[in-house]
Amino acid sequence: MTDPVVVCTWSAVRDQPWEETEAALTLGRTVSGACGAELHWLVVGPSLDEGPEIAGRHGVARVDRIDDPKLEDGRPDAFVEALAQYCASHPCRLLLFNQNFATRLVAPRVAGRLGVGVVMNGTDIEVDGDRLDVTAAAYGGDTRVVYGLEGPGPCVVALLANAVAPEPTEDAGTAPAATELEVDLSGVEERIRVLEAAHTEGPRLEDAEIIVSGGRGLGSPENFKLIEELADVLGGMAGASRPLVDEGWIDSSRQVGLTGKITRPALYLAAGISGATQHMVGCSAAKTIVAINTDPDAAIFRHARYGIVGDCTELLPELIRAASEAGDS
Ligand SMILES: Cc1cc2nc3c(=O)[nH]c(=O)nc-3n(C[C@H](O)[C@H](O)[C@H](O)COP(=O)(O)OP(=O)(O)OC[C@H]3O[C@@H](n4cnc5c(N)ncnc54)[C@H](O)[C@@H]3O)c2cc1C
Repeated sequence: MTDPVVVCTWSAVRDQPWEETEAALTLGRTVSGACGAELHWLVVGPSLDEGPEIAGRHGVARVDRIDDPKLEDGRPDAFVEALAQYCASHPCRLLLFNQNFATRLVAPRVAGRLGVGVVMNGTDIEVDGDRLDVTAAAYGGDTRVVYGLEGPGPCVVALLANAVAPEPTEDAGTAPAATELEVDLSGVEERIRVLEAAHTEGPRLEDAEIIVSGGRGLGSPENFKLIEELADVLGGMAGASRPLVDEGWIDSSRQVGLTGKITRPALYLAAGISGATQHMVGCSAAKTIVAINTDPDAAIFRHARYGIVGDCTELLPELIRAASEAGDS
């Protein structure tokens, strides 16, 4: 039988939406089905309360867990060593991560240790005989590339958030009990020490159902208050394009896009945002996009269901008033 497809979750990574793990398991299931291989799930770090339920929903044949005090707070050198030892004793066809800030740092290093190829920003994988055709976003999301990965040994792929919709299997079964695996991390000297981790409090942008986002077209940091006010009246959250974060108008937890948050709200209202691909990566999964822009040819209008050509600094106060009145009535 073909070596299994292994989805790897680094459980020490904070703020990890389960949909992303389930998306990787969904793609892993499709690939394993097409290869005639089993789907395995490797959890590295503390055990997951949700683990058995998720594994059952995705037809996981085997769950492995590696834990060690050195893995508990997400140390990358220990993680890479643990994965290298795992892959040496558990051959696999594909090692699939869901891509986030943490796995972006370690997936290429794991591939380097194994001497195999890695594809980051993956969006899909198709099986063609012995070859895996991995589609990935390239050039900051401007284009797609298909890499044909052949040969023995695992392919390492990191799956971009929102690229695959999580779909549980129809015949969900009982999850296998996790097998605890031993690794020897005694020789690992961690080279990176996190002195202070960024903390964000309150709800996460990634979970918001309504996002009102502002871009450079707002013209000034004062006008960002209009974004916050409209978001508040609509019961949503305020987001921003990257230049606003770079300029310090708002903190990075609100940045939408390739190097920010990947969101999937029901409503995404973009005011004064041009619609650069790097921004759209973070909001194109929204059910409805509404755009306000003075430029009728702005790229954002190609993505928006509803578009308003106009000055957002004039239109936002109107929308705030209308939404407040609708809320009062
Ligand atoms: C590797 C890389 C990663 C990146 N990651 C991200 C990312 O994660 N997120 C992100 O957002 N960007 C990212 N960028 C930057 C991205 O390419 C764009 O430069 C950025 O999204 C542009 O922001 P903007 O739309 O606010 O500004 P601009 O491109 O300057 O657009 C401003 C828009 O506002 C309109 N406008 C002007 N005045 C008004 C007005 N009064 N009313 C209404 N509309 C008005 C203009 O017509 C224009 O369309 C990244 C770039 C690179 C290279």
